[in-house]
Amino acid sequence: MLISRIGANLGVNNFSFGTKQNQRVSFSMPCDTVTFSGKVSQEDKKPQLKEKTIYIFLGAPASGKGTQAEKLAEELDIAHISTGDLLREEVKNGTELGIEAAKYMNSGKLVPTELFQKLLIGRISQDDCKKGYILDGFPRTEEQAEMIDELNQTDNAKIKVIQLSVDEEKLLERMLSRAKVQNRADDTPEKLKTRIDVYNGVRDTLVRYYGDKVVNIDANKDIQGVKAQIDESIQEDLV
Ligand code: AMP
Repeated sequence: MLISRIGANLGVNNFSFGTKQNQRVSFSMPCDTVTFSGKVSQEDKKPQLKEKTIYIFLGAPASGKGTQAEKLAEELDIAHISTGDLLREEVKNGTELGIEAAKYMNSGKLVPTELFQKLLIGRISQDDCKKGYILDGFPRTEEQAEMIDELNQTDNAKIKVIQLSVDEEKLLERMLSRAKVQNRADDTPEKLKTRIDVYNGVRDTLVRYYGDKVVNIDANKDIQGVKAQIDESIQEDLV
């Protein structure tokens, strides 16, 4: 919502703002009585979850997990947690964890869970995860899936797995164009192949593990096409 303030030098504050529906509302009041109570935001209009929900985005590298997870997090006002991003941050900061993790990440292999378990638990204990959160890139093994279940024992949050399926040819194409933009050390063709193989190796195990919690999305479509399918699949989770 855009709010503009004009004419203060006349001793009056004139405010006008456009609503989402594009109606323009104006009002004015003397300078010394201007107070703003109430939140001027679109928060109220955000869709609300019926219960705490953990969305797990499952998909090969470059399947669009990050992009779609970010959009959904914004839409539902919940946290988006990418273990890849958490780890890259550690690498960037040159922490002990980062230095150790980089050895695996640079060759496209999985970082041992024990290395970053504490970091992840710390992250999902934060306030912005209270209503729910999105896990992007986690779990990647059955052991990690069990870890989420254990952590979720007290909350008993709903778990929904959004699986983004993309043809391998398309994945490689996307990864190579992303590599040019992001200059990621693990986006070279050989490492990409390793990462796709690592994902394919665990995909079926995770899909079996989660059973009917999995929603399959055709992620060969463009961003909007994928988003539309995800939006449809979460309707049942909303108030
Ligand atoms: P991503 O950005 O999700 O593709 O992750 C980049 C890299 O971070 C992966 O290739 C792994 O080396 C590491 N990584 C991210 N998430 C995990 C995870 N859940 N378990 C182990 N390693 C991970």
